[in-house]
Amino acid sequence: MSPSVVPVQAPAPGLERQAIIDLSAIANNIRHLRELAAPAQFMAVVKADAYGHGAVPVARTAVAAGAQWLGTAHITEALELRAAGLDVPVMCWLHTPQSDFTAAVANNIDLGCSGWELERIVAAARSLERPARVHLKIDTGLGRNGCPGADWPALVEAAMVHQRAGLIRVVGVFSHLAVADEPERPETDDQLERFRDAVSVAEAAGAELEVRHIANTPATLSRPDTHFDMVRVGLGVYGLSPFADRTSAQLGLVPAMTLQTRIALCKDVPAGQGVSYGLNYVTDEPTTLGLVPLGYADGIPRVATGGPVRVNGISYPVVGRIAMDQMVIDLGPHFRLASAAAADAAGGVEATAADSAGILGATAELFGNGHDGGPLVEQWAAAAGTINYEVVTRISQRVPRSYTGGAE
Ligand SMILES: *Cc1c(COP(=O)(O)O)cnc(C)c1O
Repeated sequence: MSPSVVPVQAPAPGLERQAIIDLSAIANNIRHLRELAAPAQFMAVVKADAYGHGAVPVARTAVAAGAQWLGTAHITEALELRAAGLDVPVMCWLHTPQSDFTAAVANNIDLGCSGWELERIVAAARSLERPARVHLKIDTGLGRNGCPGADWPALVEAAMVHQRAGLIRVVGVFSHLAVADEPERPETDDQLERFRDAVSVAEAAGAELEVRHIANTPATLSRPDTHFDMVRVGLGVYGLSPFADRTSAQLGLVPAMTLQTRIALCKDVPAGQGVSYGLNYVTDEPTTLGLVPLGYADGIPRVATGGPVRVNGISYPVVGRIAMDQMVIDLGPHFRLASAAAADAAGGVEATAADSAGILGATAELFGNGHDGGPLVEQWAAAAGTINYEVVTRISQRVPRSYTGGAE
């Protein structure tokens, strides 16, 4: 079950910092998840720049690995995929009255519709003289987007009037789950029951549905009874686990993003040295500090002190406050002894100790695919009091993405 995980080579070793995206891992994750979901179709969710991994390269890889559909939140995100030449079915589901429904219909993008959007979509179809493809969304309990159950028959009826007029085609009914990451909770059963009822109402009204869909990553992995005609998978594509008590490896997934930089400075300090703003961390013995040039402007949460940074095979916790551009690790007295010994060997020149130990400019990995016990996104999520979804998605545009591997 556990997938083989090998070290990822930096595609651009000259970069000062990079998020390396392993497209082979993404392709393998998709193949694995597709097998679990079959015969249901597979939608790769690439919203939010593919959870920080890069929407277009991930979408291309996903399609090559067999994803039949792509999903985004916004119309603008879907249009980006079309502009890049991706011509598979694309669906998006979060709109405002400012959304460009005309561009969506013109580009053959499927639209989620919870209610008010229907008339906007119809107006776009009318002006383009081209029917729009619509997926009606029922709120089965999440309480966010989606049509309330009480309004569902009226929404379905209005949609069918427009379908008979040739303005839209109701191709899907969908919903979103609230607690699928906790598979034992009973609310998922309630949501499924309401979903089946909503599908029945639509079909009784004459809808010929291509896809009924409700499953996200956790439901795809833990609840085959949620798969219906299609699963919508985001997090799992990126190799991350949606469950608090199960690792990527236990799910047969490989994390696709490796975040690394180079050590910018390394120096010996005495006991009593305060570190970073607020001087919240003070060394209690002579030690060696390493400066890591990534901070909250790069998307590392400021509260995540204690998160791991691996240098030369050893993970060190970040000490002191994380700043906008940088953070500090304490390499420890053992390292200092080693560097002092190296300095002795080099003729007692203390300033060269860190250099001779290979620390200045050494690769500093914040998280990766877990190869050889390496640091994981989940450790940063724990340090920041958040979830793995947020850690990868927030890695900022200041960090260049580079790509390795592919769907072959
Ligand atoms: C983001 C999203 C998904 C994907 O969720 P994951 O838990 O990342 O798989 C699926 N459906 C909808 C409507 C979403 O907004």
